[in-house]
Amino acid sequence: MYTYADVILPLPLQGTFTYKVPGDMQPMVQPGMRVLVNFGRSKLYAGIIFQLHNNPPAYAGIKEIVNLPDEKPIINTQQLNFWQWVASYYMCTIGEVMAAAMPGVFRLCSETKIIFHPDYDGDITDLSPQEVTVVNTLSEKQEVTFKELHALLGNNYAMRQIQNMIDKGILILCEDVEDRYKPKQELGFALAPEYADSHEALSGLLADMEKNKKPQLQADTLLLFMQCLHKENSQVIKKSLLMTIPGITDNRLNALVKRGVLQKTAIQTSRWQYQAGSMKADDILLSPAQNEAYNQIRQKLEENRNLLFHGVTGSGKTEIYIKLIQSYIDQGKQVLYLLPEIALTEQIINRLRAYFGDVVGIYHSQYNYMQRAEVWQEMCKENGRFKVILGTRSALFMPFAHLGLIIVDEEHDMSYKQYDPAPRYQARDAAVMLAGQVKADIVLGTATPSMESMNNVLRGKYAYVTLMERYGGIQLPQVKLVNMRAAKAEQQMEGHFSFMMYQHIEQALQQHKQVILFQNRRGYAPHMECPQCGYIPHCKHCDVTLTYHKEVKGLQCHYCGYTTPVINVCPQCGTAMQMKGFGTEMVEEELQARFPQANIARLDYDSTRNKNAHKRILSEFEQQHTDILIGTQMVTKGLDFDNVSLVGILNADNMLNYPDFRSYERALQLLMQVSGRAGRKKEQGLVLIQTYDPRHSIFAHVQTNDYAHIAELLLAERKQFGYPPYTRLVKVGVQHKQESVAMEAALALVHALQQNMDIPVLGPENSLVARVKNLYRKEIMLKMPLDGKIPARKQCICNTINDIKAMRNFSQVIFVPDVDVY
Ligand code: ADP
Ligand code: ZN
Repeated sequence: MYTYADVILPLPLQGTFTYKVPGDMQPMVQPGMRVLVNFGRSKLYAGIIFQLHNNPPAYAGIKEIVNLPDEKPIINTQQLNFWQWVASYYMCTIGEVMAAAMPGVFRLCSETKIIFHPDYDGDITDLSPQEVTVVNTLSEKQEVTFKELHALLGNNYAMRQIQNMIDKGILILCEDVEDRYKPKQELGFALAPEYADSHEALSGLLADMEKNKKPQLQADTLLLFMQCLHKENSQVIKKSLLMTIPGITDNRLNALVKRGVLQKTAIQTSRWQYQAGSMKADDILLSPAQNEAYNQIRQKLEENRNLLFHGVTGSGKTEIYIKLIQSYIDQGKQVLYLLPEIALTEQIINRLRAYFGDVVGIYHSQYNYMQRAEVWQEMCKENGRFKVILGTRSALFMPFAHLGLIIVDEEHDMSYKQYDPAPRYQARDAAVMLAGQVKADIVLGTATPSMESMNNVLRGKYAYVTLMERYGGIQLPQVKLVNMRAAKAEQQMEGHFSFMMYQHIEQALQQHKQVILFQNRRGYAPHMECPQCGYIPHCKHCDVTLTYHKEVKGLQCHYCGYTTPVINVCPQCGTAMQMKGFGTEMVEEELQARFPQANIARLDYDSTRNKNAHKRILSEFEQQHTDILIGTQMVTKGLDFDNVSLVGILNADNMLNYPDFRSYERALQLLMQVSGRAGRKKEQGLVLIQTYDPRHSIFAHVQTNDYAHIAELLLAERKQFGYPPYTRLVKVGVQHKQESVAMEAALALVHALQQNMDIPVLGPENSLVARVKNLYRKEIMLKMPLDGKIPARKQCICNTINDIKAMRNFSQVIFVPDVDVY
């Protein structure tokens, strides 16, 4: 038995915090259990026990654990190890990892709502006048926040008083103590015990009912109920199921309850009500090429747990995954299927459910906390239902007990990297780490591998399997360029479309084929400009131009959401303003004018803000109600449509001019992925790319589709210039609302780092957007050689940041370390 517990609190503070385990809790505590503790003066927090020990801390006045809300750990030791790795690798606190890892209900904090303790009976005899005030207020409002109570009590002891009332069992912090998580319950019916336990009593009852004519309906209902019990092989039947049986009604059931024959009971049901899969993975007939790839994957995984599966778009990777998943389930293992974005999950959910039914659990941030908590709870059970978890990056943190395989689909996708808030982790890389820690296999799959993964193949860290032919003998699409300079000069343009593009769209529509058009800017026009003096409207709070959105008739900031009415006349010189560039809204408008009969839909951030809009737009396109789908990078991602003959890229140039060492890689992946949407079944598709720079090497690369060769070229360049994967980049953002303070702090950090480290420190520079939401943003970049000293260097950076933060002038400065910057 242990006397001390190191506890993780969901706070951005380094390390864990030691508490004393009260004697009565000592037999029960285990690492991974939740505890309620005081932190700071008298703030209550729910934390997680990281470890238990008998070493008294050096300081006096150690606090005791207040409460142990659960009977079992909700985090296993493997997860705790993983959390610790994430925190140290990505330079954040384990508390921040905890906050990202767990569904909200499990990480309770005291900024919270306060309610009456459920057992409090309203007795006010022994209360002080102030306490009575609190009771009265709560009686009116049911729920108050601490802030409100503080204001109400209006003195320095408010916290103490509330604490006292909590101690007296009058109040409770509802999020902190009483778990809000309640499994969904459903009404059910069972036989009353006297009939359930005695066959004779039951036959007697039925015979009795037979005799009297009147309760004939009751007798019938009872017989139907008995049949149902038998069929379901259960003691209790859900009301919802009973109501589907002809002859059973609400009234008749209630009559039986009144008569004491049946009893109502609550059944805990799952919010997940899927059906069992209707298809069998064993029945999938792989093509010879798929079969070869599948066998190679299985074989190579025996020697190397990490594998890159490079299969061109439409090669049928998903079918292979399904077979693979089945083989791990057969071995009693769990599978984690990661996707970069929620947007992609819908199609995959349906495909996986068809095979695996309700053993597939879904976990992503758009599910509400109840749903997520339920998946989590199910995972904690000894023999929980879920064998496959399909989710976005946070699903990495689920409490797997038997993880056997991780599939990282679309592994190249940059959305695997979390930007904000901490932990700023790369879920693909973290998945590789997790797989290593729990000894699971991991398959990274994509048509366009990241340079990181290609490099890992080259250095023998990952096994490599390719599948270079499309399923069903479909050819990869033909890629044609439209020289926009020439089209303009020869007046072969209408709006933002070349005649060539229009011709092919027209042709596709005539043949009842579908078209996808890609434009990487949303809104109507990326910005407005005065042709006379060059004035450009900027955001009030950020250093970015405002985008014109015709739908909302306003100018909008894509960083902070600030909107302002359209400026038609230049405020500086009075000239009429012009629109510059074009976004998806304008494309849609031009296209609708040109093809008034066509059904056109738009898929971008603006059109998918409503819940389910995304799903609807895609399913309408899938069912061919939509002829043309216009979209931002949302249309480029792993979607599978049957009838698309043309993919048009309206402006390929803007994605090439992004100031980032990955811009070439990113543009290439984007072009190849969006091209992959064309001509998937039956015939070869066409990809038409409009560009002002047709001689750019990237187009030749897209046309030849020799990805491995291109990767070699790109990697050689990365090596030459010392970019990842041949170095590791750590960026430290420095932010403050005053530019001078941000700059001074950044300079101080650079100086200190230069003294403390033996590698070059670059910067400070302005971030790409130098001010966002009124915070000035500077950044410092460190390029770390792969010399085994990276952990020590990261530690040194953290220490140096803490030194700077401790300086009085910089106490309000925000420092944001970001490891493996994307
Ligand atoms: P990828 O993910 O590699 O781009 P998909 O897995 O989406 O490709 O497969 C492309 C299409 O081919 C899908 O409609 C898929 O159902 C179909 N397909 C692939 N393999 C098979 C197979 N073995 N049997 C039947 N259909 C298949
Ligand atoms: Zn803004």
